[in-house]
Amino acid sequence: MKNTTKVVLFLIIIISFSFVNPKPLEPKKINIVIDAGHGGNDFGVTSNSITEKQIVEQITNKIKSSNSNVVIHLTRYNDTFLSLEERTDFINTIKPDLVLSLHVNASLNNKTSGLEFYVAKETEFFKKSNEIAEKLNKKFSENTNLKMLGIKTGPFYILKKSDVPAVIIELGYLTNENDKKYLIDDNEQNKMAKSISEFISAME
Ligand SMILES: [Zn+2]
Repeated sequence: MKNTTKVVLFLIIIISFSFVNPKPLEPKKINIVIDAGHGGNDFGVTSNSITEKQIVEQITNKIKSSNSNVVIHLTRYNDTFLSLEERTDFINTIKPDLVLSLHVNASLNNKTSGLEFYVAKETEFFKKSNEIAEKLNKKFSENTNLKMLGIKTGPFYILKKSDVPAVIIELGYLTNENDKKYLIDDNEQNKMAKSISEFISAME
């Protein structure tokens, strides 16, 4: 080859390489911890044979993400007792993008009903947690007929001690007849799980 041909070839190679797109980055993995409250000897709120621990476990098991980048971790996979400290130790080891802790409420007033979210003001993740609760609130309003009581603040252990954004969802009042019907109904449980599934599937 002539020297000029070599130079031209060399230049062509250099130029073509400069147009090669860098390999797209792998999409970020989103880690979510779903914490089904209570378990084992801790029944949570009870009404006859109906228990909070069972309702939240049933709904937790229905939560699935359609986004392959979302990894769901559960604090408990069966009916076992876990202390709050064991739950937050697990959470802080994983350091997920979000913790959702599922509970069922009770009131001395059997007319009190509805679904509410709790976030803690006592953490640096308050703002982020509140934003997430707002979005979840919207999803639940779209997918369920439950009365929505909005977002409240409370210094709950799991919210304060998790080193990541965390939201407690009180799915309804077991002490209210109408809420109770929702909470134990398989189809209504599917709708509640769907609200959470849709939200986490859209996380990035
Ligand atoms: Zn509870």
